[in-house]
Amino acid sequence: MRNGERSRVPSETHYSNTVTDEIFRKLRTLISLKERRIMFELPRCRLCGQSLETPAVAESEVTCKVCGTKNRVILSKNVRVVSGVLREPELELRERIEEFARLRNYTFSEVKEHVIQSLLEKRDKYGDFYCPCKTKEVVENICPCEETRVGDVEVNGCCGCCLFWKR
Ligand SMILES: [Zn+2]
Repeated sequence: MRNGERSRVPSETHYSNTVTDEIFRKLRTLISLKERRIMFELPRCRLCGQSLETPAVAESEVTCKVCGTKNRVILSKNVRVVSGVLREPELELRERIEEFARLRNYTFSEVKEHVIQSLLEKRDKYGDFYCPCKTKEVVENICPCEETRVGDVEVNGCCGCCLFWKR
């Protein structure tokens, strides 16, 4: 009797455990795949959305090869989070436009300082470097604006506010 119970109970338990284990194993696989995807998916530039090659360290600063924006990438719970660099706004802007000009081999004209001042005013007023020539404060208009990023300077010789010039 006792032997019979013992043999019955473990076999039932064994059966239900196998099913439960299988479900949990599948769930774990799904979760770990999702985690792995997040872990290995490259973070994107906070301005233009370009994938950023980042070193696997807790915190790094990565310059976007498309728009010249510096991104701060923080590893938080195995997920890489992108944020702005901790810079004084004028320095951040100057670094960005210089890097963008360098990446595209563009030059500046004598209106450069004037445009920089207008961009800084926009930053003060609206929180980011929105193009002074544009009326909408949307991400596409953050300097270097979307048209400039996709090659307007190549076509027109300069960007809309005459900051970047084709050589
Ligand atoms: Zn970018």
